[in-house]
This record gives sequence, C-alpha cells and structure tokens, in this order.
Amino acid sequence: MNSILKQDLDNFENILEKTKQQGIDFLNDIENIPTSNTYTINPKTALNELGLGSIEALREFNERLAPLMVSSPGPRYWGFVTGGSTPASIVGDWLASIYDQNTQAVKAQGGASALIEFETINLLLQLLDLPDTFLGGFVTGATMSNFTSLGVARQWFGKQFGKDFAKDGISETVNILTATPHSSSIKCLSLLGIGSQNYTTVKTIEGNREALDIADLEENIKKLEGKPFILISSAGTVNTADFDDFEAIAALKEKYNFWWHIDGAFGGFAAVSDKYNHLVKGWEGADSITIDCHKWLNVPYESAFFLIKKDHINLQIETFQNSNAPYLGNPLENFNYLNVLPENSRRLRALPAWFSLKAYGKEGFKDLIEGSIALALHFGNALIENDFELLAPIRLNNVCFTLKGKHNQDKVNQFLSALNDTGKVFMTPTIYQNKKGIRASFVNWRTTEKDIKLVIEEMKQTILDMEI
Ligand SMILES: *Cc1c(COP(=O)(O)O)cnc(C)c1O
Repeated sequence: MNSILKQDLDNFENILEKTKQQGIDFLNDIENIPTSNTYTINPKTALNELGLGSIEALREFNERLAPLMVSSPGPRYWGFVTGGSTPASIVGDWLASIYDQNTQAVKAQGGASALIEFETINLLLQLLDLPDTFLGGFVTGATMSNFTSLGVARQWFGKQFGKDFAKDGISETVNILTATPHSSSIKCLSLLGIGSQNYTTVKTIEGNREALDIADLEENIKKLEGKPFILISSAGTVNTADFDDFEAIAALKEKYNFWWHIDGAFGGFAAVSDKYNHLVKGWEGADSITIDCHKWLNVPYESAFFLIKKDHINLQIETFQNSNAPYLGNPLENFNYLNVLPENSRRLRALPAWFSLKAYGKEGFKDLIEGSIALALHFGNALIENDFELLAPIRLNNVCFTLKGKHNQDKVNQFLSALNDTGKVFMTPTIYQNKKGIRASFVNWRTTEKDIKLVIEEMKQTILDMEI
C-alpha cells in the first residue's frame, strides 16, 4: 500500500471526525451563509507529485474551495426547485458512500443491495398512494427519469409498427403530443434520436393555465388518424405548478392507442396531502411517471426515480439490456437494474430516501408538503400587499410574480439581480405569457414564515434603493 494511503488509513477516525465537525459547523450556520457570492478561483492547480493526505487536502479545500459554497440547502434558496437535505437523508447518503455497493441485482452471490432499492420504491409507492403495478428504479435526476421512461415509450412506439427501434434504430416518425413540457423532456427527445423539434404542441386551457386543453388534445389525436403516439403530460409545470387532467387523459386512453408519460418531478408530491391529492387523481393510469427526490423529498443530489408499468418490462429490457455480456444472465430471470435503465455501475442511491421515509413517515412528509404550500400562499399575499403582482394563481408551491405595472417590465431583471446580490435570498428569472417574471419555489424543509418576512423586507429595500 502506498505510504500516504497507509497514513490515511491509520488516521481514518480522526479524518472522519474532522469532516463530521465541518459538516455540523456548516449546517448549524446555514441561515447565515449567503445564497450567492462573488468569490471565484482559478480552477487549475498542479497535481501533487506525492499527494497531500486527506487532512491536508481538507485544509486546502477549506481555504480555496469551501468559500464557493452557497446555502443552497438553506431556507431561502428559492430558485429553480431546490430541496435541501434532512438529517435522515444525510445519514443515508453518508452510508451509501461508506458501504459503496454496486447496486444491481436482487439475488446474487456478489451482493443483493437492489432489494433495498425495491423496498424503497415500495415505500415511495405507499407515500404517493400508487399501486404496486409499477417497476421503479433510481436515477440521478428527473431528466434521466424522463429519459428512461421516454426511452421505453420509444420502443413501445416502434412495436406498434412491428419494429424494434432499440435494435434497428428509428424508422418511423415518432408522434409526440405535449402542452407545457419541462425543458428536460425536450432534451430527451434530442437524446433519443426523436428530435427536439419533433413534437406537436397541444393548446393549453384558456385563462392563465398551463395544462393541456383536453378538447384540443383529442383534435390532435384525430389528426393522427389512428396512428400511435406518446403523450408527455405534467404533474406540476415549473412556472405555475399546473396539472393536466389525469382523469380525462385516462378516459382518452380507453379510446386511443398511446403511451402516457407524466412528469411529476416535484408536483407528484401533491399525492401526499388529502388537500391536494385531487390534482393527481387518475395518475395511476399512466404508463410511466417521473419523480425527483432531491427536490421535495429533501434528500441530497442526485436522486430521482422512474415508475414504469410492470406490463412493459419486456420493452424496458429491450431498450436497456446489456445483451452482449453473457455473464449477466437472462434479464427476465435474474433481475438486474443494469438491464432496465441507462447506467451499469450505480451507487446505493435509494438509501437517503429509505432513511427519510423511515425517519419521518407519511405524516412528516404531509406536513412538509402542506407547509411549503402554505408558505407559497403566504409569500404571495405579502407580494400583493407590496409592489408586486402575481403572474398566475398559486396552485401549489411555486410563486410566479413580477414588479407591478407595465412600465416596470424592463426593471425586473435588474431588480432580481440586485436582490440576489444581497445573498439573503435566491430566486430565478422567468418569462411567463410574454412577461418578465420571477419564480420562487418552496420545497425546503427548513423554510419558515420568518424567512418570508426577512425576504419581503429585503425586497422593499431593493425597491427603495432602485427608486422603482
Ligand atoms: C426539475 C425538473 C426536471 C429536471 O429534473 P432534474 O432533477 O434537474 O434532472 C424535470 N421536470 C420537472 C417538472 C422539473 O421540475
């Protein structure tokens, strides 16, 4: 063994102790750590000839790199849809690194940690009140979950023409219908060789909605004259958290032949609350569903899962199987995750979610979800009382707003940039219905009303400073 490695091994307890203490210091101070900073580094340093050992590397990290860290797991990072990490999720994340399993098989001499993934998916199905008719698996994010789901959808589409796209490539125009897809689904169309421009945009419901207009959807289906298609629907659009009408889509599935995908990256968690689960009513009829864990479940990056109906297992294996590696065996007999999703080697990504679900249960997540929604409404009310207007009603946890008055449109970006510069809060710009707007998304378990008060004060001050 190399001498520096040996030294680290002998000193391992001390190294981990120091790391733990550093983590506690960061998390205990998270409310004071800025949400933005202007610190920068020259990202080039010489690779050491002999190596520093972990303690010295930690020292260098603290000196040069740690100042780059912003409080994105903190209570006032409202940009994008950014979750934090609960205590239990960090326990799971640490242990996933320590046990360092290559999570693939459920039954193998070389390890069966995929059983833990099965168990976690089963817990998630219970949390979301979904039936056990789905096969689920963990991937790095909702983008990869959309990719996995739409990859199987593509294979299904080919089969409608008696073709095997996975083997032979795409030889038919793949029909895609969607209204307000997340940009990551469009990226998937590009990755899957379908083409990022090759989809039909269905109208949205009139009156400030982002949800599919079901009548227009049916019009577009009729134009296909009986040809199959893939429908990409939304459980929570990013601007206004709008939901497609899943009961109506389920009824269309009785009449027409299509693959139904739901992107519910964050909005799927509406299912956890009795007050909001009507938004996802009927979603169990989908062929595939995408959900992120690193958003509203508040586990560290990178964590999301897909749910694909077990009936489609053959299509899924055709899409992802490692067919020219004989040591992997028959994928239908020996279940192995590497035959049903993009990655081969993969960490025990389910563990942070497993710990969270065990630690906080149904009630914990119901409180978290309903709490975030209450905060969004609270923030929305405070905005209206001040110099802002909402661009859309608050349907769930996202607030889409702008400066009051048409004449202030050209000041929106400057305002947001000045506000973000305070480091007290971080929000992201958007364009909604041709208006420049700002998005705040509430998903972090640490956020409280005190944070909203603090942010409103900062916003008022920024308005004064800018003389808006
Ligand atoms: C965040 C998000 C995605 C992309 O998720 P990643 O985890 O960033 O890959 C896809 N769809 C929706 C609706 C999202 O909110």
